Amino acid sequence: MKILLVFAHPEPRSLNGALRDVAVTELRAQGHEVRVSDLYAMGWKAAIDRDDFPALPPKARLQVAAASGEALAAQALTGDVTAEQDKLLWADLLILQFPLWWYAMPAILKGWVDRVYAYGFAYGVGEHSDRRWGERFGEGRLAGKRAMLIVTTGGWEEHYSARGINGPIDDLLFPITHGILFYPGYAVLPSFVAYRVDRLDGPGFDALAERLRQRLRGLSTTPPIPFRRQNGGEYAIPSLELRPDLGAAGAMGFALHQEDGDHVDKAR
Ligand code: FAD
Repeated sequence: MKILLVFAHPEPRSLNGALRDVAVTELRAQGHEVRVSDLYAMGWKAAIDRDDFPALPPKARLQVAAASGEALAAQALTGDVTAEQDKLLWADLLILQFPLWWYAMPAILKGWVDRVYAYGFAYGVGEHSDRRWGERFGEGRLAGKRAMLIVTTGGWEEHYSARGINGPIDDLLFPITHGILFYPGYAVLPSFVAYRVDRLDGPGFDALAERLRQRLRGLSTTPPIPFRRQNGGEYAIPSLELRPDLGAAGAMGFALHQEDGDHVDKAR
C-alpha cells in the first residue's frame, strides 16, 4: 500500500515523534511505501487567506470557496497545496497523527485541511440539487481509500468514556473522522488513541509502541467505522435527515450516523 502520514507536532523528540518513527518503521517493514508530511518541519502555512489565490484580482472580494474552486479548475492553487493534493491522490491510506490540543487537532493540521481540501477536490463534488446533495459522506474524490487517526491525549481513558467529563472520544473525534475523512470518501478505520501519556515512562512507551505496531499490522483487514452513506438511501434529500425508521430507539446526535459498536482502540 501507499501510505501518507501527516504529522502535526512541533518537536521531533516528542512522544508523537517517537510514535511516528515506530509507525513508519513498521509500515516500511511490512513492505508499504510511506511518505510523511511533517507540517512543522515543512513550515506549513496554517491559515487560508488571500495569498492562497494568487490569480485573484487584487480588488476582488475574497470568497474562499469560490476562489478555491476557480483556482483548482485553473490549476492556480499554490505549489504547497497542490503537492499535498497529489500526495492524497497517490496514497491508498491517509494517517493523521497529532496530540489532542483543546479537544481538537493542532491548528497547523486544521489549516492543512482548510487549504488542501479545495472546493471541487474535497467538497463541492458532484451534482448539488434538490434530488442530489453532492458526492460526499462515503463518496467523493477520495473514495476507495482508507484513513485513520493516531491521537495522544493527556486525559485518561475514563475521562473520555461514555460518562466521562470530557465526553466520549468517538464524539470528540467525529468532526474529523466523519466530517473531514468520511466526507470526501475515505473509509475510516477506528482511531488509535493513546491516553494519559504525559508521564509515560520507558516500559509504558514500549507497550504503547507495540500496541501501535499490532494495530498497523491489521490495516488491510480492519473493518472501517460503519458510517452511513449519504446517498445510500438512509437519508432524506434535501433535508439530509436520517430516515425515521433507522437508528436505535432514543439514539441522538453523532451516534445516529453509524451503526452500533465501539470504534476506538482501548487504551492501556
Ligand atoms: P511528550 O510531552 O513529548 O511526551 C509525553 C511523555 O512521554 C513524556 O513524559 C516523555 O518522557 C514520555 N516518553 C516516553 N518514551 C518516550 C519516547 N521514546 N520519546 C518521547 N517521549 C517519551 N490533553 C487532553 O487530554 N485533552 C486536551 O484537550 C488537551 N489539550 C491540550 C492543549 C495544549 C495546548 C497542550 C500543550 C496539551 C494539551 N493536552 C490535552 C495534553 C496533550 O494531549 C499531551 O500533552 C500530548 O498528547 C502528549 O504528546 P507529546 O507528543 O507532546 O508528548
